[in-house]
Amino acid sequence: MSIIVQKFGGSSVADAAKVMNVASRVVDTYKAGNSVVVVVSAQGDTTDDLIDKAKEINPNASKREMDMLLSSGEQISIALLAMAIEKLGCPVISLTGWQAGFKTNSNYSNARIDKIDTERLLAEIDQKKIVIVAGFQGVNRYDDITTLGRGGSDTSAVAIASAIHADKCEIYTDVDGVYTADPRIVKGAKKLNEITYDEMLELASLGANVLHNRSVEMAKKYNTALEVKSSFEKIDGTVVQEVIKMEKMLIRGVARDNDVASISIVGLPDTPGIAFKVFSLLSKKSINVDVILQSIGRENKKDISFTVQKAHLEEAIAILEGAKETLEFETIKHREDLSKVSIVGAGMVNNPGVAAKMFEALYNAGINIHMISTSEIKVSVLINVEKAEKAVQIVHEAFFGA
Ligand code: ADP
Ligand code: ASP
Ligand code: MG
Repeated sequence: MSIIVQKFGGSSVADAAKVMNVASRVVDTYKAGNSVVVVVSAQGDTTDDLIDKAKEINPNASKREMDMLLSSGEQISIALLAMAIEKLGCPVISLTGWQAGFKTNSNYSNARIDKIDTERLLAEIDQKKIVIVAGFQGVNRYDDITTLGRGGSDTSAVAIASAIHADKCEIYTDVDGVYTADPRIVKGAKKLNEITYDEMLELASLGANVLHNRSVEMAKKYNTALEVKSSFEKIDGTVVQEVIKMEKMLIRGVARDNDVASISIVGLPDTPGIAFKVFSLLSKKSINVDVILQSIGRENKKDISFTVQKAHLEEAIAILEGAKETLEFETIKHREDLSKVSIVGAGMVNNPGVAAKMFEALYNAGINIHMISTSEIKVSVLINVEKAEKAVQIVHEAFFGA
């Protein structure tokens, strides 16, 4: 007997027929003699719809109240799925995040899981029940509901699988695996049978939202076996694991992220410690900074440009403007019309030509690069957002063919 954790995303439970489809897949796994824990997301576009409802009333609502609201979407799904499984005649119980023991920190709207108290979960499994858990949510030390960030149900699933030492964690979604690029955007995207944790983590962090990046981080940490599969077709998906047997590809995939804004601080004094001052101010407020570019000094002045998530743009500018006297800069400029396009692959470490090949493809298509950043296994460029889809397509073609 194995313990299997199965996660079904929003599009997989979007309506009654889909909920019944999920129920029958879960019941099949259960009847094959396995213990099954199921994590579900809110139905279809429910989370987006709830966000719109909140904006109608108060666009600046507190994150605590947003979490209270958004967590309701998953609560609907768990109850409906449990009812569907009851109808199929199997023992089942639904649990919200807090009932399932999810303890998180207090970073509302983007909370981290500190631990899972698995007592209740394990007791229900012992009683041979199928356990349905609400994804994306937990509770903090003030007994307030928190959510884990958009796409966070994947992380709920991997966290449970890691905590109860499940034999498998299966992520069911509306595509049948991880592809070399988003198959909904890129013609000729190819399905991968396997991918390493590190490569998947980079792809997910760089915009391939097929998996929440923290879910991959956690799967790597606990060496949890992860498979991305189709909710609708019964075929093999993509296995995410430490070592893969697959032929060495130069790059594994191309990703795009439109959630970037750039900030340029113009005319900073060209003295030691300036970058430290700028970025420590931002990190104190938990603002993540990504691509960084510093100009060479001229007349004792320099510029520093960097990117942040769009949601952090206003706050970052306000923090910097507030420190104008100590930082002694001239002006701040910002842009929101950008996109980050990245290639990822462990194979690029020893292949200096990879970045050049990407830049050549962009040059041939007349696409201008504003900023570049690289690591051992990725190259990212910032370009104009209107060119992003084309860029992903032509860069993908350069590495994988049309
Ligand atoms: P769910 O609701 O099941 O969590 P998501 O919408 O979060 O589903 O993730 C699945 C989507 O991820 C797919 O529909 C696809 O458009 C997108 N996606 C982006 N990059 C990739 C990729 N490299 N491979 C597969 N899907 C990708
Ligand atoms: N319902 C949440 C969202 O839409 C969590 C998830 O789907 O994973 O972001
Ligand atoms: Mg998702």
